[in-house]
Amino acid sequence: MSAPIPTTKCLKCGYIMDHASLLTDDSAVPRLGDATLCMKCGELYLFDKDLRIKTPSARELLELKASASWLQVIRIRRAIKEVQKTHPIPDR
Ligand SMILES: [Zn+2]
Repeated sequence: MSAPIPTTKCLKCGYIMDHASLLTDDSAVPRLGDATLCMKCGELYLFDKDLRIKTPSARELLELKASASWLQVIRIRRAIKEVQKTHPIPDR
């Protein structure tokens, strides 16, 4: 299951996102400051208070890299890139 988020475009590839999901917890909902990845290109963003995506600041990126979630971010990003090689998401 995924949670609805305000419709937004990936700043890198233009992919339109309107839902977010946490692969390890079906019932999770996004919160302020959570990291999120574009499902098409793997670009990293953070959710702001309105659950809109924003590019992390240098400081936020450092904090994320020092957190327990970073390994998961890397793994998921790697998986997205692998899937995109063989099953690319079409532009919409
Ligand atoms: Zn993207």
